[in-house]
Amino acid sequence: MITVYRAVLAATLVTAGGAAIAPTIVTRAQRDQQQPVIQRVLDETFEKYRNLKEGKNADYIPALAKVNPELFGITLVTADGKVYTAGDVGTQVSIQSISKVFTLAKVIEQDGPEKIEKTIGVDATGMRFNSIVSIEFSQKSLGGPEMNSLVNPGAIATTSMVNGSSAAEIWNSILGYYSDFAGRPLTVLDDVYQSEAATNQRNQAIGALMYAYGYIKANPAQATDIYTRQCSVGVNAKDLAMMAATLANGGKNPVTNKQVMTPDNVPYVLSVMATAGLYDDSGKWLYHTGLPAKSGVGGGIIAVAPGKFGVAVVSPPLDDAGNSVRAQKVIREIVARLHANPYEVRPRTVATTGSR
Ligand code: GLN
Repeated sequence: MITVYRAVLAATLVTAGGAAIAPTIVTRAQRDQQQPVIQRVLDETFEKYRNLKEGKNADYIPALAKVNPELFGITLVTADGKVYTAGDVGTQVSIQSISKVFTLAKVIEQDGPEKIEKTIGVDATGMRFNSIVSIEFSQKSLGGPEMNSLVNPGAIATTSMVNGSSAAEIWNSILGYYSDFAGRPLTVLDDVYQSEAATNQRNQAIGALMYAYGYIKANPAQATDIYTRQCSVGVNAKDLAMMAATLANGGKNPVTNKQVMTPDNVPYVLSVMATAGLYDDSGKWLYHTGLPAKSGVGGGIIAVAPGKFGVAVVSPPLDDAGNSVRAQKVIREIVARLHANPYEVRPRTVATTGSR
């Protein structure tokens, strides 16, 4: 059983009853023994779901309908930089909504955690990712903002907050930031960008409405265009797991060792992922995994086990909420088998001294 991934030296704990208990110390040798278990779990989970045919590629962005629905890759990267893979982890898909996590991270780094909370909000909308009604309900006059940076309206507004003196400067700083998380230079999949830019009238309307309601301060068309570009960045399962592992490791990429974001800011990003990472199915997701996660209509899902690992699955067919069917099943299974749900605790057997 894998319960701890790094050596933990904690102070002596005191139970609610007042008895002192010794902390569990997992040595490096014990941890290294557990490593083959992770590979076996990935291999077995891959085999189990290899032939699953449920769900359907997104087709409201025409380029996404053409992606091979059979594409299936799993990567898990531990917080100390070990990489485990199964299936196709090299073929790129568009990052889509998973990008929203990293633009949120950028704006929290830039402005601190309070600004996002006060302006866009950090609450679930309970509605679809591109809901226009959610904008109406989120208005401050109605007690809002009941919005967040991981659904389209909040995400376009978050992108509009990134500092820069020109669109090119803003874009380069966003792409550079994503690349630091992934540990390699990422690029845009131009066919996806062109396809979405030609068909994203709904997002343009969302951008305009967010401007009308004061969430976007200027130039909503530019914000929507940069948002569309950020959604078209190409990533494979390995890139996504590396990005997730950087969040799992206090904002430091565990392979390049670059500190990409301040450790203190990471929990704010993870909490919004826990609240809204799988849109209106976020509650269901948390119920089964206990982990912050984020999906994208390109077919990727990332999940973060803080201090332990980042995991990513790429498989394009989606369910009705817009989340990859196979990626949800696979990550749920991996989390269960690795006992990575932070709410899952085995009661301790403590030898009591004296009578109580
Ligand atoms: N670019 C997509 C859109 O705006 C992203 C949506 C998603 O991944 N859920 O519609």
